[in-house]
Amino acid sequence: MVRTLKAFDIRGKNILLRVDFNVPMDGNLVGNNFRIKAALPTIKSCIDGGASVTIISHLGRPNGTFSEKLSLMPIGEELAKLLEMPIKFSEDCISSNAVDTSIGLKPGEIHLLENLRFHREEVENNQQFSKVLSKHGHIFINDAFGTAHRSHASNVGVTSHFKHCGIGWLMHKELNFLKNLMDKPNRDLTVIVGGAKISTKIKLIDNFIHKADNIIIGGGMAFTFMKAMGKNIGGSLLEESMVPVAINLINKARMKNVKLVFPTDILCSKSLNSEPLDGFFSVEDIPKDAMGLDIGEESLKLYKSILLSSKTILWNGPMGVFEKKQFSNGTRELGKILSKIASKDVNVVVGGGDTAAALELFGLDSDMTHISTGGGASLELLSGNTLPAIKSLEK
Ligand code: AMP
Repeated sequence: MVRTLKAFDIRGKNILLRVDFNVPMDGNLVGNNFRIKAALPTIKSCIDGGASVTIISHLGRPNGTFSEKLSLMPIGEELAKLLEMPIKFSEDCISSNAVDTSIGLKPGEIHLLENLRFHREEVENNQQFSKVLSKHGHIFINDAFGTAHRSHASNVGVTSHFKHCGIGWLMHKELNFLKNLMDKPNRDLTVIVGGAKISTKIKLIDNFIHKADNIIIGGGMAFTFMKAMGKNIGGSLLEESMVPVAINLINKARMKNVKLVFPTDILCSKSLNSEPLDGFFSVEDIPKDAMGLDIGEESLKLYKSILLSSKTILWNGPMGVFEKKQFSNGTRELGKILSKIASKDVNVVVGGGDTAAALELFGLDSDMTHISTGGGASLELLSGNTLPAIKSLEK
């Protein structure tokens, strides 16, 4: 069983708290503080409960060497602003000075350590590195859902040095939303899967063929399915080696009575950088020299009719190349449909990553029931895999 923060007597203790402060940076400033805000309930819970907190996180991929661009210092400044209190900062996460600062913290004080990945040992899940990290606290709390699918020192190795360890409120919330959706969803459950590659989402689709009522497929991956059904996909994105897998999924869905829904009309273009061709093309006749880069109006109508009778909806992956304005309509309009549906007591959960980025771009992010803070971790969990960081907390 994994314990939450409330299972521990934290008064007077120092909590070693792993968070995911891997935020987009804009030069020396925090570009988006969504992940910092998401960690605040756990941090506040610790200090309100009379504990001190040493916070650890990674930022980017510095590959084991110091990089000023990836320092957590600006993140510390943003955190201090959000908490409206000063915090301590140490320039190396395993120096004896940093450990001494943690040991000397008074209740209510916060200490942020420099980027864990300035040491290669972090991603190597090195035991000695984990041991030094563990000296920073009496209790270990993991609130970093975004890295829960990785086996690193700060989320897996470190747990073997603690008698008391568990999860924070963000991790708790993420696991609850995603597990409820998989284990006891209100019916009908509809899963929308899009994005570029079918290969990265096969396990997700396969898992939900056993659980969902409808699976809507959009984005680039739809074309591998269409090819499998013998359609002309022109120059659209194709994962040739995945055609047999697509055929297998289509057959499985038929056997399980799960409705697999594909786009019926497509917005095409000669290239990613040119303007779209006039009108929408039927999936039967995409021109040889064109590629499908977004779904059309008819597909949106079809999807809407299915979504309107759903009580739980999971969305993972954009419907088109949403980063380019001319191919963003399908993803934006689907976001608008879902934002209306979410306001009517339907659970709309978004699996993070590119879909979350798209919703933010369109200003629709706050309308959803839940947007996961971890694209990779939510994909793993929703694919039916265990998360190593959670497994290591089962004591
Ligand atoms: P993924 O990481 O697999 O969710 O893929 C996200 C990416 O898929 C985004 O960057 C989109 O631009 C891309 N994408 C969506 N639809 C298409 C399409 N029809 N053709 C090519 N790329 C697409």
